[in-house]
Amino acid sequence: MTFPEKFTAAVVDELGPEVNVREIELPTPGPNQALVKLIASGICHTDLHAAEGDWPVKPKPPFIPGHEGVGEVVALGPGEHTVAEGDMVGNVWLWSACGHCEHCRTGWETLCNEAQYGGYNVNGSFGQYMLVDTRYCARIPEGVDPVAAAPILCAGVTVYKGLKVTDTRPGQFVVISGVGGLGHLAVQYAVAMGRRVIAVDIADEKLELAKKHGAEFVVNAKDGDPSQAILEYTGGGAHGVLVTAVHPQAFAQAINMARKGGTIVFNGLPPGEFPANIFNIVFKGLTIRGSIVGTRQDLEEALDFFARGKIHPTVTECKLDDVNSVFEDMRHGKIDGRMAIRF
Ligand SMILES: [Zn+2]
Ligand SMILES: [Zn+2]
Repeated sequence: MTFPEKFTAAVVDELGPEVNVREIELPTPGPNQALVKLIASGICHTDLHAAEGDWPVKPKPPFIPGHEGVGEVVALGPGEHTVAEGDMVGNVWLWSACGHCEHCRTGWETLCNEAQYGGYNVNGSFGQYMLVDTRYCARIPEGVDPVAAAPILCAGVTVYKGLKVTDTRPGQFVVISGVGGLGHLAVQYAVAMGRRVIAVDIADEKLELAKKHGAEFVVNAKDGDPSQAILEYTGGGAHGVLVTAVHPQAFAQAINMARKGGTIVFNGLPPGEFPANIFNIVFKGLTIRGSIVGTRQDLEEALDFFARGKIHPTVTECKLDDVNSVFEDMRHGKIDGRMAIRF
């Protein structure tokens, strides 16, 4: 196969509100790497944070954002690989890890200090081509729509892992707090995992969507703390609470709505702190933990639920040229579900 010397990508040339859609040199895959021709890429809120340099450790421009890319392997670097040319693969936030530190050895590669992040410190999927590390890339199940599959690679695996670490069992109550890009998938995973799902949001249409996806009880938090309604409905609180919302108040309310001995998992990433009632945490014997993306095994499982038709991401297609306007809508909270580029 012959390749062009250059390809088109949305490039962050300096940290700030705008990306430049321009030509960039085609990379050559090194050892453990494959060159992938993209078909689709989701646009995650993290991509906006990356472009604007919002986080303490900033990415170094120029770079290409994007960590929900799906495409076909078109060339392999030197050495052995577990994927072949023609395979459908995806890039993910955890682009690669060291494989030998304490975290990697214990199955927590997401916590590796040497990890590289797709679309952050390694070029990502907002372009016609990208590199993946074949040891860490996602394997896309056969026959799925690449655009619909894209949000599973970050949003899907993030909430799936978050639900796993609520340590709940089938038949127990789980609250999904926030029914946005993450939360609408969380509702579906929780239902597919046999949990009794309660959804909380401040928008009635989001709660309707949650019901459509199988939530058995919904509460609008616009008019105050939804905890009382949840304590009554569940007879003592939810066994697990997954917070995907970004308002700090939602983190505080999670403590009130949890059952004694329950577990609260934070997926949402608003800046700053949240007010926590220490007495309640102690008295109720609560566990509060953070959870970020998921391991390769979590990814396989999350994609398997999707391939079996259990998960239906709300996806709106766009073009590579639309990245700046999608970012603008994101800043104003105007996006329903997920936006995904089709190349
Ligand atoms: Zn993401
Ligand atoms: Zn490691």
